[in-house]
Amino acid sequence: MDVPADGERVTYDADADELDVPENPIVPILYGDGIGVDVAPAAKQVLQAAAEATGRHVEWMRVYAGETAREMYDENLPAETVEAIREFRVALKGPLTTPVGAGFRSLNVALRQKLDLFANVRPTYYLDGVPSPVKAPEQMDMVTFRENTEDVYAGIEWEAGTPEVEQVRTFLEEEMDAEGIHDGPVGIGIKPITEFGTKRLVREAIDYALANDRDSVTLVHKGNIMKYTEGQFRDWGYEVAEEEYGEDVITEDTLWEERDGEQPEDALVVNDRIADNMLQQLLTRTEEYDVLAMPNLNGDYLSDAAGAQIGGLGIAPGANFGQGRVLAEPVHGSAPKYAGQDKVNPAAMILSGRLLFEYLGWEDAASLIGEAVEQTIASKYVTYDLHRQIEGGEKASTSEFAQRVAATIDELA
Ligand code: NAP
Repeated sequence: MDVPADGERVTYDADADELDVPENPIVPILYGDGIGVDVAPAAKQVLQAAAEATGRHVEWMRVYAGETAREMYDENLPAETVEAIREFRVALKGPLTTPVGAGFRSLNVALRQKLDLFANVRPTYYLDGVPSPVKAPEQMDMVTFRENTEDVYAGIEWEAGTPEVEQVRTFLEEEMDAEGIHDGPVGIGIKPITEFGTKRLVREAIDYALANDRDSVTLVHKGNIMKYTEGQFRDWGYEVAEEEYGEDVITEDTLWEERDGEQPEDALVVNDRIADNMLQQLLTRTEEYDVLAMPNLNGDYLSDAAGAQIGGLGIAPGANFGQGRVLAEPVHGSAPKYAGQDKVNPAAMILSGRLLFEYLGWEDAASLIGEAVEQTIASKYVTYDLHRQIEGGEKASTSEFAQRVAATIDELA
């Protein structure tokens, strides 16, 4: 792997929980599969424009996984790639294809697990001019924190028809008194939710909410049915809020019991909602929610549903946070049918880079990116996905859109 000679490393002081960020950091970039070849170069161009407009420079370092890695290294996820992301601390990644049903396990999941990137974070906010299926998309301004290492992501399951699954069935029925498994072939999965995994996720969400002047953190769970996993997530979440943050955080119960619903200025409220209710509240009481903290599967559903309300996959950014480490990536997949056509929307990848810049503390460059993307879309210069929904828009290719955003950054700076 070629490490750029001119760049410097981002380092991390674990005791202070602080990054030390040079003005010319080395940032690994993984283009990924399918449309990765279109959106990654587009994002690089825009991010570099924002870095340079604020007196900095990014030294990109290509790393490989998925199809390109198979060609070069004959494996899906080379150790070199994982090590580079571990060592350089911040990285940007395009989508990676995962076969359904059979074949190798998700490389995305493997990367998150190997690097212990325990929180999948997605800011979901409305960009002026983006077509949306709801009447008031501007009411949405949420950040979802989805646990990234356990629950169904732990991948503990056994295939129907194998001796292993029958062993698990026998154990469950005969030793654990489990009832309700019908006779005949069965697939069995187990979801672990630990105190450790829950508390570090909820802590991350609360820290983020406090640092960004948010009003509430909502624990989203299905604890009415899965009492000892999802219910426990809620209880451990409240424990973090009550035991670790003093006056800065109050629970919704305390708010009503002791303060008649009056939120003290500067205090963050922690509340909880059952997942199915939360899915409808996303639509019916959008404005009331702010930061959501969730186990893995709830987070999967909720963050996509929230994303749909503000215009969908082409513009939805994301990032995976670990301890002093971030891997930013768009929410969308590799959309193979559009690969290499210079057609799809690079905004999700660009805005994922914006998150990476925020993580580096480059707020000025991050705001420039946000403003330039919004202005470009508001001017109706858009890729095919938004063009088909906007009247009177002008259709841009991936690279043309990126070019316009980069030029807008130069104008704004
Ligand atoms: P997908 O690749 O996200 O594509 C689904 C549809 O979303 C596309 O056909 C397109 O819709 C729209 N879309 C996605 N990205 C877009 C963009 N940048 N601009 C405009 N429209 C965009 O989802 P998928 O087809 O379910 O998954 C394909 C592969 O990606 C699978 O192997 C999956 O496992 C993988 N995947 C990877 C990640 C990741 O790397 N983090 C995430 C999700 C999925 P229209 O055709 O309607 O325009």
